[in-house]
Amino acid sequence: MTARLGRPVLSAVVMGYRNERTIVQSVRSLLEQTCDDPFEVLVVTSGGDRSAELVRERFPRTVVHDSPIRLSAGAARNVGVRLARGDVIAFLAADCLASSEWVARRIAAHRSGHQAVAGAVSHAGRDTPAARAALFTTFPSRLTTRPAGHADPSNVFGLSYARSLLERLGPFDEELGAGEDTLASRRLRSLGERAWFEPSIHAAHFGPENTWQMLRDQFRRGARRARWADLLNAIGPRRLRLERMRWPGAGVFTVGLIAAYEVRGRWQWTIGSALRWGRKRQVLSVLPWIVAAVLANEAGWAIAQLGPEGHARRQARQVAAQPNWGILRSLPAGGRIDRVALTFDDGPSPRTTPAILETLAAYGVRATFFMLGTQAERHPDLVARTAAAGHSIGNHTWSHAYLRYDERVLQAEINRASELLVQLSGRAVRHVRPPGGRLNPMILAWLVRQGFHAVLWSIDPRDWSRPGPAAIASHVLERVEPGSVIVLHESETDGAGTLAALPAIIDGILSRGYSLVPL
Ligand SMILES: [Zn+2]
Repeated sequence: MTARLGRPVLSAVVMGYRNERTIVQSVRSLLEQTCDDPFEVLVVTSGGDRSAELVRERFPRTVVHDSPIRLSAGAARNVGVRLARGDVIAFLAADCLASSEWVARRIAAHRSGHQAVAGAVSHAGRDTPAARAALFTTFPSRLTTRPAGHADPSNVFGLSYARSLLERLGPFDEELGAGEDTLASRRLRSLGERAWFEPSIHAAHFGPENTWQMLRDQFRRGARRARWADLLNAIGPRRLRLERMRWPGAGVFTVGLIAAYEVRGRWQWTIGSALRWGRKRQVLSVLPWIVAAVLANEAGWAIAQLGPEGHARRQARQVAAQPNWGILRSLPAGGRIDRVALTFDDGPSPRTTPAILETLAAYGVRATFFMLGTQAERHPDLVARTAAAGHSIGNHTWSHAYLRYDERVLQAEINRASELLVQLSGRAVRHVRPPGGRLNPMILAWLVRQGFHAVLWSIDPRDWSRPGPAAIASHVLERVEPGSVIVLHESETDGAGTLAALPAIIDGILSRGYSLVPL
């Protein structure tokens, strides 16, 4: 059990995104492990469902980090790494169950000198032909029948890492929204490191059980592959294909050709790996399902390639290779004084903006205001006053719309708001904070192409949920560190608590020797 005292040897991070159905079982599979060494279980969830609540109810002593904005898998991993105290850090998806001795065997493998240890995948539900075929098709290199041994890091997954190795690897990619483990494995390989595959460490995955579920799952995986593979390759070593298509007919033809070619490659990979590492008779007995699964996957890929997002994706791929690609979550290191940024969203508002400006002026500090077009239109004088006081003006969209990739929506929400804010403030508006933190690589690439930086935050006291001034201030002051970007809100309803908390927040930050700067 985890009740052992002492510093944990291993930290197991459970990553959940809307996994209400399985997360409690997943966490329990770790908490009930037998292990002679101390280990800890951390849970990182986002997505706004009851996952975090369910875990807290059942396992009140488990550390749960629940993010109000949707975390990409990479961001969830990085949060887990920050919270982890162990020398080995392992990850488990919240739709998987850890096998018995998952922890102990990982610790043993790391102790015998392996820096990165990969595990196998099995099926958690009923054993049906579709479930087996899904396993062979999706995880052919991770079957429990594959013997233990060194493996090319870029074709094994489910890695646990020695902390020292993670420090060399750097953080997981947060911007692409997927493929963060693939990118980490490519870096692993470029460092000359190998992974150790250990089949006795396995995660039982709640995968599809009947043929229909299997086909749907494969179709989605194919579409996801189309969505991310281009981007992944843009920041990885490999670049490819479909650069430009002159005629729509040529596009269909090209995609069809590539799909056919891919079926061949995937076929060899899937069947080759399954036959190599699976039991031949088992693989052959579900052959028709495997054929259907590969075709469904390819169909999903082809349709996503031809869809309206295809163009945006190809452009995003070009932008992703540029140095200014990325999301600002905290201030880059630099300068002699440790800098912290205060940001205020949802204004300007006559109830809060003048009072905030007064407080900031009293302390002689500057901040950033992410303003809405609708509010700026109503209170143009406040935009001018804020800018005149030396604060930075950022763009929080025209109408607080949750962004999706649609050129017309982005024009109306981002460009329209920017034009007004530039006009009223007389200053350039470079920073965009998407409402709810909703971004995807296509939107991010669009923003970069328009010359904007996307800004999120590193500290969020959730003042909009009205926890009271004391709670807001202590949330911020407990977490503030060099480079922190703090998000506060001045919406009509909750400004009062934020306003009352502000002096304590500024006092606390300045008394630690940090300087407050606009973005
Ligand atoms: Zn907002």
